[in-house]
Amino acid sequence: MKKLRVAHLYPKLLNIYGDGGNILALIRRCQWRGITVELDEIGVGDKIGRHDIYFIGGGQDLQQIEVSKELLKNKDFFTEERDRMAVFLGICGGYQLMGHYYQPHNGERLEGISLLDAYTVAGNKRFIGNVTAETDLVEPHTLVGFENHSGLTYLQGDTVPIGKVFVGNGNNGEDKTEGARFKNVFGTYLHGSFLPKNPHFADYMIELALGAKPEPLDDEIELLAHNSLVNKKY
Ligand code: GLN
Repeated sequence: MKKLRVAHLYPKLLNIYGDGGNILALIRRCQWRGITVELDEIGVGDKIGRHDIYFIGGGQDLQQIEVSKELLKNKDFFTEERDRMAVFLGICGGYQLMGHYYQPHNGERLEGISLLDAYTVAGNKRFIGNVTAETDLVEPHTLVGFENHSGLTYLQGDTVPIGKVFVGNGNNGEDKTEGARFKNVFGTYLHGSFLPKNPHFADYMIELALGAKPEPLDDEIELLAHNSLVNKKY
């Protein structure tokens, strides 16, 4: 019996716009294949053991301050986990904290854990709306979701985007990039939540975590939902 250990990081603080739906999608898509999932919700002060997949959702600047402190306490652990190719997915605020830092409009710079070679600075306007990005990571070659952020994220070094934006703003509304990847660490600005609307990306994460391609599921309904959002502006 195959088993995956999934850690949901600080869901009581970073879990905005239904980002918890990403965990539900991962669990269901494993269960439908007979893969057992051990889910650990990690709270402030909790010790974190090794997992196959780590997920962190989005949130407002205030909650990011507390989570930044918690993540930094475990920076070495997370770096070791990244380097042994564990899978990470961060959404928006969680994504920002997987980079070097997030500089909000007001207040101190929030230090990140540098799993990604990226940094974020607050922009002058809020990006709110649908996003479609083209990707070569998965088939179909599209990712869809909803963005709501003022942070502008810039990628450096070997950290590469997961997609090219066709609708919406993505990382910063300037360079047409969306999200980030380094090793098996992924970040995206796509809420929605992301994985239920992009089941092919959920399966890619499961494949990376298992080390083997999972058997295909009948995704007719999921892909109908996905395709109904491709290139949808409003
Ligand atoms: N507070 C961050 C920003 O505004 C992240 C927002 C979010 O997670 N939706 O950019």
